[in-house]
Amino acid sequence: MKLAERVRNLAESATLAVTAKAARMKADGIDVVSFGAGEPDFDTPQHIKDAGIAAIQAGHTKYSKPASGIPAAKRAVCEKLARENSLHYTPNQVIITASGKMACYLVMSSLIDPGDEVIIPAPYWVSYPEIAKLVGGVPVTVAGRESNDFKLTPADLKPVLSNRTKLFVLTSPSNPSGVTYSPDELRALADVLHEYDLFVMSDEIYDRLVYDGQECSSYAAVSEQAYAHAITVNAVSKTYAMTGWRTGYAAGPAEVINAMSKLQTQSTSGAVTFNQHALVEALTGDQAPVEQMRLEFQKRGRHMYERLIAIPGVRCPKPTGAFYCFPNLSETYSKLGVAGSLEFAELLLEEARVAVVPGIAFGLDGHARLSFAASMEQIDEGLTRIEAYLK
Ligand code: PMP
Repeated sequence: MKLAERVRNLAESATLAVTAKAARMKADGIDVVSFGAGEPDFDTPQHIKDAGIAAIQAGHTKYSKPASGIPAAKRAVCEKLARENSLHYTPNQVIITASGKMACYLVMSSLIDPGDEVIIPAPYWVSYPEIAKLVGGVPVTVAGRESNDFKLTPADLKPVLSNRTKLFVLTSPSNPSGVTYSPDELRALADVLHEYDLFVMSDEIYDRLVYDGQECSSYAAVSEQAYAHAITVNAVSKTYAMTGWRTGYAAGPAEVINAMSKLQTQSTSGAVTFNQHALVEALTGDQAPVEQMRLEFQKRGRHMYERLIAIPGVRCPKPTGAFYCFPNLSETYSKLGVAGSLEFAELLLEEARVAVVPGIAFGLDGHARLSFAASMEQIDEGLTRIEAYLK
């Protein structure tokens, strides 16, 4: 059997692989602390569940009409983006997608021709380079300095931009580093990006999960020119603890959104119709549960970070958003006799029974990603085990 080359060359999601192995160990009765999760450990707020159930009861169980999203969901997205992101879009500039991941896939499929370069700052969310390759693009990864928490500056960005660049991918707050660009940092990048004929995909899936007064802005909000070239991607997955609902959205120039919508008619035929009704409730209903979750993540993130940097040889950017710490553990590798983050994560799981995601999956082999979407007790237990293991 000969499978298509695009699949043969595709890396399986490392985040899912680690959590699957940890789950298998747990099922075998082994006491594993998992920091692998890429999703909130909270349940979807009740009022959102009720809206989903009510939508099913009301018969919203047929195809999404249109496939690009029901009008109420598009209006809710416009309202959210205006209220929280100072971004003003009309419904024809919005698409509702079957997840944030699908929104990224549709953006790249709509913009990338074979050979076009996609600039991806490292550390990056695992799926960007794979999606770029799937659509025929050439991923070009570029890392910021560790002393700048890996955030790119104009000086880092300039050397990789060229007339081959079609798309720049921005993720703020970041998965996996947990760092967030300030509005000034975004403006500085925009000044460089404006010199080229390219688009920016701004993945803002963690925009509501920011901590310690960190300022956070949408890329498209920094200038008119940025707005004209940006596609803002988001989802209800993280903010509202709705990862299983597979409901996301994107907003940007109508021409790009139309192209994405056309592709959607030939792929998923749209997001699940009753989930779009739940999205309306999530975006326009009571936001108190979001603040409760945010405060809890903030507390956990600070605690995990403090405990990590107290371990000799461990450095870590302070998480200002999302729910991840991304420590540099490379100083411990030689002591442990491991060659890289894959071996490190495997040993840690087998010997200390703590699951982390190897940094190589995000482009930086000296690191590991630890999710603090886990209880304080689990965080303490896991860090105690890591500390003891690295002694
Ligand atoms: N972008 C980023 C940065 C993410 O971390 C994730 C989820 N891990 C996604 C997109 C995809 O989200 P969804 O579950 O809505 O597909």
